[in-house]
Amino acid sequence: MDNFSLFAANAIILFVFAAAFYATWLEQPDARYWKSWAVANLLLGVSLIFFMAEPHLPASVIVVAPNGLLILGFTLRWCGAREFAGREMPLGYAVAPFACFAALCAVPWFIASYGAVYTVVNLILAILALGTAAEFFRDRRDGLLSRYGLVFSYSLMGLSFALRVLQGILEGNEMAYQLPDDMMLVLHLVVALVYTSSSGAFSLTIAYERNAAEQREAALRDPLTGVYNRRDFENRLHTLLEDDKAPRFAIVQFDIDHFKQVNDRFGHAAGDKALRLCASAIRDALRPQDCLARLGGEEFAALLVDIEREEAARIADRVREAVSAIALDVTEDGYRLTVSAGIYHAGSSHPDFDAVMKIADDCLYLAKNRGRDRIELSPAAA
Ligand code: GH3
Ligand code: MG
Ligand code: MG
Repeated sequence: MDNFSLFAANAIILFVFAAAFYATWLEQPDARYWKSWAVANLLLGVSLIFFMAEPHLPASVIVVAPNGLLILGFTLRWCGAREFAGREMPLGYAVAPFACFAALCAVPWFIASYGAVYTVVNLILAILALGTAAEFFRDRRDGLLSRYGLVFSYSLMGLSFALRVLQGILEGNEMAYQLPDDMMLVLHLVVALVYTSSSGAFSLTIAYERNAAEQREAALRDPLTGVYNRRDFENRLHTLLEDDKAPRFAIVQFDIDHFKQVNDRFGHAAGDKALRLCASAIRDALRPQDCLARLGGEEFAALLVDIEREEAARIADRVREAVSAIALDVTEDGYRLTVSAGIYHAGSSHPDFDAVMKIADDCLYLAKNRGRDRIELSPAAA
C-alpha cells in the first residue's frame, strides 16, 4: 500500500471512532473522557489530511499545522486516559507539549530545518504515547483485560515514534529527500493503522468491561451502607458449607439495639445515617478478610473464615465496643448506640444452612434477652 492510502485509511478509522466516542459521550455526558477522545481523534484525523495534501501546501503550513494537531491530539488522548482513571490532568502538563512546539516554531532556524522539526515532534509524540500507555498500565490491578490492549497499542505507537526520533537524529535533513518513498514512513503508517484501530476498539471495550464489573459489584452490595447484601452473604455461606475442606469459620449476626427509638426520636434520615455509621464501625472492627453483609433493616452478619472460637468472640466483642463508641452527632443528648451479637462457630462438621443461621439467630435472641449490648456464643461443636 502506498503512503497516501495508508494516511487515508488511518484518517477514516480515526473519524469513525471519533463519531463512536462522541455518540457514547452524548449518552454519558459525565464521562468526559469520551469527549476528550472524540476531539483527539478529530484532530489526529485532520492532521493526516494535512499530510495527504502536503504537495499542495506551502512548507510553513505543513510544518506547523499537522504537527501541532498531532501533538494536541495525543495530549488529549492522554488527558482522556487520566479522566478515565479519575485523575485530572494538571493544566500545565496539558498545555506544555503544544506550548513547547509553538515556541520552537517561532524560531526561524527550527522551522527551516526538516531534521530538527521531525526529531522534536516525534520525541514529543513518543513521550505522549508512552505516557498514555503508562497511565493505562498503572491501574492494571482492576483486572480489566482491554487495558492490556491499550497498553500494547500505545506502547507500539510510542516505540514507532521513538524509532523515528532515532532516524531524525541519524539522518537529519537528508530524510526530506527520501520522501515520498521512505520505507520507515510506510512501516510507521502500518503501525499507526494497528494503533488507531486497536486503541479505538479497546477504548470502547475497556469502558464496557468496567461498566459490567461495576454493575456486577453493585448487585452484591447494599445500596444504603455499601457493605455486601443478604444474597451475597448467603451465597458465600452456601459455598463454605458445600466445601468439605473449608477451614473453621464463624457467623456473627449483629442486631442494633432499640433501633426503632433512633428513628422515632431523630427521624428516618438520622436512622439511615446511624446505619451507615454502624456499618463502617463494624467493617473497621473486623479483620480485612472478613465479609460483612447487611441482612436487612438494622441487622448485619459477618462471615469470619479460618478462625477459632475464642478469636471470633474477641472480634465480635471488638465490634460491640466500636458500635458503642459511635458519636451519633445527629443527637444533642449524646444518644448511645449499642449492638447485640450471636455467634455460630463451625467445628470440624456443621449442620445445613438453615440450621447454621438458626443457631446464630438463637444466640442473638439470647443476647437480647440477657440485656442487650452483649454477645453470645453457640456451644462448642464437635
Ligand atoms: P431490638 O433491640 O429488640 O433489636 O429493638 P429494635 O428497635 O432495634 O428492633 P425492631 O426490629 O423492632 O426495629 C428495627 C427498626 O429498624 C424498625 C425500623 O424502623 C428500623 N429500620 C429498618 N430498616 C431501616 C432503614 O433502612 N432505615 C432506617 N432509618 N430504619 C430502618
Ligand atoms: Mg432487628
Ligand atoms: Mg434491633
